[in-house]
Amino acid sequence: MPIQQLPPHLINQIAAGEVVERPASVIKELLENSLDAGAQSVVIDVEQGGVKRIRVRDDGSGIEKQEIELALARHATSKIGSMEDLEQVLSMGFRGEALPSIASVSRMSVTSAVESAQTGWQLQPDGGAEGQKLQPYPHPTGTTVEVQDLFYNVPARRKFLKAERTEFNHLEQVVRRLAMSYFAVGFELRHNQRESLRLPPAKNQQEMDRRVAQICGNQFIEQSVVIDESGVELRLWGWIGLPAFSRSQMDMQYFYVNGRMIRDKVVNHAVKLGYQDVLFHGRFPAFVLHLEIDPKLVDVNAHPTKHEVRFRDSRMVHGFINKTIKRLLGELTPENSAVNALPATVTTQAGDQSTGSTLPLNLSETAGASSRYFSSPDLPSQRQVSEQLAGYQALSDGIKQTVQLHPSESGAAPMGYAVAQLHGIYILAQNEQGLVVVDMHAAHERITYERMKQIHAENSLRSQPLLVPVSISVSRREADLVESSQDVLDGLGVSLDRSGPEQVIIRAVPSLLRDADAESLVRDLLADLVERGSSTKMIEAINEILSTMACHGSVRANRRLTIDEMNSLLRDMEATERSGQCNHGRPTWVQMSIDQLDKLFMRGQ
Ligand code: ADP
Ligand code: MG
Repeated sequence: MPIQQLPPHLINQIAAGEVVERPASVIKELLENSLDAGAQSVVIDVEQGGVKRIRVRDDGSGIEKQEIELALARHATSKIGSMEDLEQVLSMGFRGEALPSIASVSRMSVTSAVESAQTGWQLQPDGGAEGQKLQPYPHPTGTTVEVQDLFYNVPARRKFLKAERTEFNHLEQVVRRLAMSYFAVGFELRHNQRESLRLPPAKNQQEMDRRVAQICGNQFIEQSVVIDESGVELRLWGWIGLPAFSRSQMDMQYFYVNGRMIRDKVVNHAVKLGYQDVLFHGRFPAFVLHLEIDPKLVDVNAHPTKHEVRFRDSRMVHGFINKTIKRLLGELTPENSAVNALPATVTTQAGDQSTGSTLPLNLSETAGASSRYFSSPDLPSQRQVSEQLAGYQALSDGIKQTVQLHPSESGAAPMGYAVAQLHGIYILAQNEQGLVVVDMHAAHERITYERMKQIHAENSLRSQPLLVPVSISVSRREADLVESSQDVLDGLGVSLDRSGPEQVIIRAVPSLLRDADAESLVRDLLADLVERGSSTKMIEAINEILSTMACHGSVRANRRLTIDEMNSLLRDMEATERSGQCNHGRPTWVQMSIDQLDKLFMRGQ
């Protein structure tokens, strides 16, 4: 075949192969266009999973009559005009490829009106064939794009489409993702005339919480904390799930960079590290996070579907995300974790914190998640209650008396003082608010782990010489690195010498890891050093081992503790970072306030 210029329609179809994979990709492009056009409300109608029909109607700026045809031309965009624009692009679209691509593999129509226009206009390129006609067509300010019979002319693609329900689920997922970025925009989604999403505009925290709850579930919003942290050039905000809400899959991880949802290794790793100490191995955190960063510092043009981004300084971004999450989780106590569930309680009671301790006096998680911790039994009759009340009175007097035993100290001990041990598993303690229940083993495990980490950090890692040094071949770059990073390696307790251009000798490994396979350890370490310049993997590995050891070294259930022992555990918890969770992400303690107890017994009602 001689060389020939491909006809435009075929070029579009080829391009469509990249951007239009299934109905979900169509909705993504159309919604992004609506959002770029400043829409406040978007209504989406879908039939047969989107294969038969997708219609997106928005109230955005609309397209001028004379520009509608251009909108459908390849590489025609109103969003960038120069390389400089591309470097700081904030709009979702910018390649000018979506509409012509979609039009080339479906029957599409675009109807649009701008504010000043007398009427709207409709264009039906009809599979991109010649003779497209602009017709006057009534339409309020905004745009409607309708895509019918997707892939009618590309049987190969059609074959790969899945069941209607599956395609629709993918499509709906796209809407959900965008909805957690464009909170101020209202979204409606219908499938085969049945409503599947109705998300009113969300303009304040409460409305945003509600939207996230609609998308990720009430459970998530009840068991997450709202965060908002700014660094020099970065801001990280959103919702991070409590470790106890971890998932077996990565299905509830939404990360946005400047409003664009992305999947990125650097980011994933940073978040994972942030959760590392509080999440059980093999569990995944749930989060909705937005990173705002100067658009010049991030390249969104790295991938056609724009799922991947490239950070100019990925180490800085990695460090910021990881440290922020780690710190916030470290500060996490059952009280502030209930921010979403009980905003009012938290604000009013925060003021009671007279001690300045990191542990709060009041831990309202129990109120937020009360059903998880104590189910309300069938309520007794009023008569039974009054009959028993006299008996309980004595008990309650007794409690009051014990409280008075520590009048001055009680304020200084947020976790309160032990009164009893229950079934060898729980410590019952009383503090100013009421009852504190502590999972003894979990609490002790957390304390031991934090302590071991600290000792480690202070002494740096001791190393253990290998009986027989191991020689391994590495890349020249890695060998260079070994020479130039002796300090770092020393600090990690690893002794490596270069013995040739592409050869190093392992002489010692951290004593904690002496049972690990030295060669694979060093290979991972070098790979990590090359990539990151510091070895997080090593720290991860060591922490994991510390965590295991901490678990074995902790008080086991069924061990009797004296009141003094229990009290010293409570004091240790107050002094330990992250003591609200055990290393496996379960809560270590809960608070039941006198109010909550009163409610259980219908006192004062
Ligand atoms: P891109 O979004 O990359 O610019 P598209 O092919 O998706 O490319 O769209 C081409 C142009 O059509 C856009 O730049 C925009 O000017 C216009 N356009 C598309 N959809 C809409 C819409 N819903 N509202 C207003 N303008 C739109
Ligand atoms: Mg676009």
